[in-house]
Amino acid sequence: MKKLICLFLLINSYTALTQNFSIKEKKQIDSLLIIWNNFEEEDTTRADAFQNFILTYFLSNNPDSAYVLATEYYTFTKQKKLKYRMSTALLFKGLSKYFVSDYEEAIHYYLRCLKLRINSGNQVGIASVYNNIGLVYQEQGAYSNALTFYLKSLKIEENLKNENGIASTLNNIGIIYKEEGDFNSALEYYNRSLKIKLKLNDKVGESHAHANIGVVYLNQDNYEDALISFEQALIANNGHEESLNAQINYDIGRVHFELGHYNTALDYVNKALHTHLELNDRVHQSASLNLIASIHFKQNSTIKAISFALRALKIAQEIGAKEKISDITQNLSMFYKASNKPEEALDMYILFMDTQEKIDRENMSNEILRQSAQYEFDKKIARDSIENAYLLKVSKEKVNNEREKKEIAEQKSFFLFSGLFLTLCFGIFIFNRLKVTAKQKSIIETQKKTVDRANKELKQINEELVLKRNEINLQKQIVQGQNEKLTKTLETEKELGLLKTNFVSMASHQYRTPLAVIQSNVELLNLLISSGEKIESEKNEKITGRIKREISKMTELMDEVLVLGKLTSGNVTYNPQEIDLVEFCNELIERFNSIQEDGRVLDFEILGEPSCISLDVKLLTHSLSNLVSNAFKYSTGNKNPQLTINFKPKELLVSVKDYGIGIPESELSYLFQPFFRANNVTEIKGTGLGLNIAKEYIELNKGRITAASTLGKGSCFEIAFSAS
Ligand code: ADP
Repeated sequence: MKKLICLFLLINSYTALTQNFSIKEKKQIDSLLIIWNNFEEEDTTRADAFQNFILTYFLSNNPDSAYVLATEYYTFTKQKKLKYRMSTALLFKGLSKYFVSDYEEAIHYYLRCLKLRINSGNQVGIASVYNNIGLVYQEQGAYSNALTFYLKSLKIEENLKNENGIASTLNNIGIIYKEEGDFNSALEYYNRSLKIKLKLNDKVGESHAHANIGVVYLNQDNYEDALISFEQALIANNGHEESLNAQINYDIGRVHFELGHYNTALDYVNKALHTHLELNDRVHQSASLNLIASIHFKQNSTIKAISFALRALKIAQEIGAKEKISDITQNLSMFYKASNKPEEALDMYILFMDTQEKIDRENMSNEILRQSAQYEFDKKIARDSIENAYLLKVSKEKVNNEREKKEIAEQKSFFLFSGLFLTLCFGIFIFNRLKVTAKQKSIIETQKKTVDRANKELKQINEELVLKRNEINLQKQIVQGQNEKLTKTLETEKELGLLKTNFVSMASHQYRTPLAVIQSNVELLNLLISSGEKIESEKNEKITGRIKREISKMTELMDEVLVLGKLTSGNVTYNPQEIDLVEFCNELIERFNSIQEDGRVLDFEILGEPSCISLDVKLLTHSLSNLVSNAFKYSTGNKNPQLTINFKPKELLVSVKDYGIGIPESELSYLFQPFFRANNVTEIKGTGLGLNIAKEYIELNKGRITAASTLGKGSCFEIAFSAS
């Protein structure tokens, strides 16, 4: 829903069209298609119809189809040379990527759209793209970047005096400040937005602004002002937007709950729940039920509290809302403890901890994706600016060269003309003095010699000039080469710095999660011991087991970080020796087969004529073991994985193939990066460092590694060594 609101707010240039548009009016959709399909209509009329048609796909929450249509629309506008509409097609493509959280692609299309709009000079359009880019950053949690783009957009909207646009952007900026915990700035921006909405008599907008302000006050524990704002929001909305109404009722319920007015709180939250049920809004149903449970608990109706919280938990589990599950299980653990049911309290506490761990892991993997995307984006921007600077330099040099050439040509023609002029004088002189005396003859001779000498000197000067020019060009080339080297070194330095910072922050986060789990388990043990109850051995084992698992996870992580440290400091040696690869693989296979608990084995295939090869055994063992262990780990319950050696005349290929869960296509490009773990492996143990180390080791061993994978079907990692 939030995204749909953004869509309407952001496609400023088409608000006139979108405002009149309604998905319920199917007839209108049909008529849009009729216009689009009518080739006799004006191109722009057909384009308008098609744009609205694409919007229906966004409104019906079908961004993938919207993307396909936007691509078609882009081709159409390009053919018809409708430049501005081309940019809108790109904006649509970006939006559809944003809707499916493919932020890198979204930014890519937005930047292309921005370029076209800057060329066309359409300020409203430019502001709209800035807003969209801001939204992407906001969604990724890169608040300062988001703010930069919102402020750019605001500046344009203010210049254009576009009140609606100003109000929306002010509201977006308010959200950023709220998320960053700068409540005073958030209030300032929300209030500025509110002022405009009041002036425009935009009731729904006014209601949103009041509600946002209320939430800030609530965060500041300023319940009195929060209540006033929420009540003003209710009045302004006046039932226009039902979901907003429900949200405000829920928030008022929260305020009364905090103030200890439990009956009033119950009235409001029940009203909210009623609407959420009508709208089939499961996320908010679960939140309302959980708040009702807390109210009952405060009123000492623990049984009712438990029953409402269990309803909330069921919904949250059905829709997979982890944050909600975490809130509810924490509550339930408390409720059960109060009603003297330690068994159930413990179960809920464990569920709470497990969910919390999952959330942490997900956040971590999102953070890695975000940082990688941001890193790629920054790199692209840096590359663009270096490229632009280079182009500028090249064009300057071209101008200089041309100027020099012109100067030399001018000099040449000057000398030529002077020569010609002198020769002409000389001719005239001879013509006028046909009968010359011997003295005159000798004068003529000397003059001729002078002219010859002058000509020679001129020639010499010319040659010197050419030499100087060549020298200058050479020096220029040297300077240019040095400049390029410098820029490259700077870029590498920057890259390394960034990698280091990312690595340290990721590594410390990786340690924090197991430490938190160990700490909470220890606390749990203390709690059980201090309650004086006898701890069943099964429960004891469960808790200590979890602590042991986390410790072994930390040890594994520590080992791998140490290996990486050794690698980056260049302390890993390369000692190649002739080996029989078939024998080597047979030993490795035996080791792996003996530890598989499910009885699976590694199938082995040899292609071509086996021959010896010179490799570092230590490096090879480490890297191949990681690939084989992953192949087993990520294909539990499926066919045997397979190891193949292919002895080719010029190269040797070693591949490890499995038929397991595979890797999502969108994440394949992050493979081999430190701490990368795909979204589909959150339930499977791992550190995300193995492949990174394996790749480094393979490259030290003078090999290359590539990967191919299909989600749900399996993966294949292939190492190639040169046979020589
Ligand atoms: P770990 O397995 O400890 O998480 P790795 O560096 O070995 O770390 O692998 C990084 C990520 O690559 C894994 O978390 C997983 O998402 C993906 N991956 C590696 N090998 C496979 C495989 N054979 N099948 C599916 N995914 C894999």
